[in-house]
This record gives sequence, C-alpha cells and structure tokens, in this order.
Amino acid sequence: MIPYGRQDITPEDIAAVEAVLRSDFLTQGPAVPGFEQALAAYCGVARGVAMNSATSALHVACLALGLGPGDRLWTSPNTFVASANCGLYCGAEVDFVDTDPATYNMSVAALEAKLVRAAAANRLPKVVIPVHFAGQSCEMRAIHALGQRYGFRIVEDASHAVGARYLGEPVGNCRYSDITIFSFHPVKIITTAEGGMAMTNDPALAERMERLRSHGITRDPAAMQGDSDGPWYYQQIELGYNYRLTDLQAALGHSQLQRLDDYVTRRHAIAARYDAALAALPLTTPHQHPDSRSALHLYPVRLHDDARRRPVFEALRAAGIGVNVHYIPVHTQPHYRRLGFQPGDFPEAERYYAGAISLPMFPTLSPAQQDEVVAALTRVLG
Ligand SMILES: *Cc1c(COP(=O)(O)O)cnc(C)c1O
Repeated sequence: MIPYGRQDITPEDIAAVEAVLRSDFLTQGPAVPGFEQALAAYCGVARGVAMNSATSALHVACLALGLGPGDRLWTSPNTFVASANCGLYCGAEVDFVDTDPATYNMSVAALEAKLVRAAAANRLPKVVIPVHFAGQSCEMRAIHALGQRYGFRIVEDASHAVGARYLGEPVGNCRYSDITIFSFHPVKIITTAEGGMAMTNDPALAERMERLRSHGITRDPAAMQGDSDGPWYYQQIELGYNYRLTDLQAALGHSQLQRLDDYVTRRHAIAARYDAALAALPLTTPHQHPDSRSALHLYPVRLHDDARRRPVFEALRAAGIGVNVHYIPVHTQPHYRRLGFQPGDFPEAERYYAGAISLPMFPTLSPAQQDEVVAALTRVLG
C-alpha cells in the first residue's frame, strides 16, 4: 500500500536520538531548548515552546490567552477535531466560520459577515483559530485586521504548514497572530513521533505556556507569591499539565529540521507532477494562492461528481493506493451535533468534503509510485 503520508528517517536522525539515549537527560535536558531555539530562528520568531503534541499546544495557547467559560472560540470546520476541541477543554463555546471555495481555508468574507452579526448580538469571539489547510496559509493580513477591529486574539493552527511562507515570510513568525502552532506527527512535514510547538513573539505568553506545560509550576522567585524558601523551592501558581516533549523527540525534530526546506521543495515537485498528470481528469487540483507558498502537507483533489467519491476511493484503496479524506467537517461529528450543530450549517465546507480525496503526498514518494497513483486514478475515473 502506498500511504497518503509517511515520515522520512535518516541515519543522522537515528544518530541524534541515540546520542540522547547515551546522555544524562532523556527529558528536561538541553535538546528541548535546542530544538525550540532552532525552529524559532528558522521562523524568525522570538520564542518556541515545545509540547508533546499540537493538541496540547493548542490547549495551552488558548489557556495562555485567557480563554475560559463564557468565552467563544471560532475556527474552520475543515480541520482536524483538535482545532476545535481546545476551546471545549477550556470550557469555552466553539463555533465555526465557513470556508473559501478555492483554498478550503477559513473565508475572510464569511468571517467578517459573522463578526458583524456577533457584534450586534454582543457575542464576539475571544480567540479565532485559522487553520492553514494542506499547508497553505490563510489570508492572515486580513484576519489580523479584523482582529484589531473586533478585539479577538489569533492562534494560527499551522499543523500542516511548518516550512510554508506567507507574503514572502515564514509561517510561524506570528506577524499576524499571537501564537502559531505546529504539529510533528509522523504524517506532517517534520516529525518527533508525537509532538508540537507553540511559537510567539510575546515573552509573557511564552512563559505562561512553559508553565502550563509543566503543572503550572515556577522556579522563578520573581513569579512566586511571597518569598522563596530556598534554592530547592518551587511553587505551583496555577493548574497546569504534563505536556512536555522528551529530549529524544526534540533531538529527532532538530535533526529533521535540517531537511525541512528540502522536504518542502520535494513536495512542490510532486505537486507539480500531479498537477500536470491530472489536468485532463474530471477533478479540481489544489489551488495555490499567490500570497502563499504552501508546505503541501496534503494533495487533496476534488472530484467534479460527488457521487463518484466513494467508488473512486474504494477502487483506489483496492489498488493499493492509501488515499484518505481531509476533512470530515468538524461540526458534523456526533460530539458537535450534541452541542447543537447540524449538517447544512457550513455548506461550503460540506460541499468540498463531499468530493474530496487526498492523494499520497510525502517527500520520499518515488516517481514510479506517483505514476502508479496517477495510472490508478486515471483508470477508475476513465
Ligand atoms: C495533526 C493536526 C492537529 C493535531 O496534531 P497532534 O500533534 O497530532 O496533536 C491539529 N490540527 C490540525 C489541523 C492537524 O492536522
């Protein structure tokens, strides 16, 4: 089976992890800040706070921004459930903004229209989470301008988009947001097995996120209530979690980071080959927005005839092509239906989902494997 996504592990990665195994620290050692600083420097952002998943990083980012009961969080329905669940973890109310028909990202026009209605009803969101679907940045300049006008904070879910660029600058520099989140799950662009990172230019947010990832504990006397008892002393000053990344994982991520640009270049070559080979088929290939250089985490095609999605998907799987579907609109999941959402609430995301199939896309996908994917798709759609 040719999978839809797959990690690339080199002898250098293995040596980096082995060196940690032979060192004094398997966790809470120097590899974690080393990885954080390297990725922050790559992105041109002040701080990175590594966590054991992007899901944890989203949760901690929302907490650090003060999201809680009585607040509202808005995100895209065309995402993995974690982009919305982080709001529920904080006790906030979650709502969605429908997608753009070309990019499948959060629609700026839909966001603005919803903000106008919410302002009139006194129900504005505290946090908005645009998701850079398939690795392509949302229109962050416009979303940021709306944030200034309506007073919401912005967390970019860039789980698909490490290595991407927006208006010529790296995604993760937080020029148009408070915090940007990356995921290092093996199907994503670089991996730490499980892992994620929250990037920010705000030192107070970085310190709060560092504290929340480790039980809400501080060892900084300046942050304590009252005096320190001595050099052994720490204080738990709020309720936090154990969301720490290990040094083994950080060393793997740091080693992978050396190849990040090569990976994205390779993904672009694969996408260009798909674009050419699929041009005559009854489907829509991914649209590349001129403001964005996508990291191309996914290559989702949209069949022109929704009725063929299931038979085409099944035929491709039967032919050994590990296709997938991204994403089942989050508001249609049973957990969200129990909160009052229904099919029909976000029609653009639902229309896109009805015809979507993600083709195999990962840097070590060989030309021969890609030809096999194209031949199978051509055969089943022919
Ligand atoms: C993968 C993913 C996440 C969650 O990442 P984990 O590191 O697996 O927790 C969140 N949002 C999006 C859009 C994702 O694709």
